[in-house]
Amino acid sequence: MASMPTCPHCSGEITYPDGDNLVCAECGHEWPAAGDAGAGKAGTPTRDSNGNALVDGDNVVVIKDLKVKGSSIPLKQGTLIRGIRLVEDDPEHIEGNSEKIKGLVLKTCFLRKA
Ligand SMILES: [Zn+2]
Repeated sequence: MASMPTCPHCSGEITYPDGDNLVCAECGHEWPAAGDAGAGKAGTPTRDSNGNALVDGDNVVVIKDLKVKGSSIPLKQGTLIRGIRLVEDDPEHIEGNSEKIKGLVLKTCFLRKA
């Protein structure tokens, strides 16, 4: 939550992304995220395979079967990863857990926002 900007309308701290916009949960104000998405973070925003910005807590879906280092279980296409964590200074990877495998580090080019 700390990385989300506050609402420009009511200064509410509970905001969330909706498509290309940010939405304030407190007053319902909606404003474009462009320009603010990477605020406070150096470098490129983390994006999924479709170019949608990803933030901490997003759910993503694996778009192809992936081998997992140190695990005999492959990560199947269509697997839902809930509540991802962005990797600081590394826009190409996120961290997350599938139901079967914990502590995954995944390339964002194999993911899409759920
Ligand atoms: Zn607001």
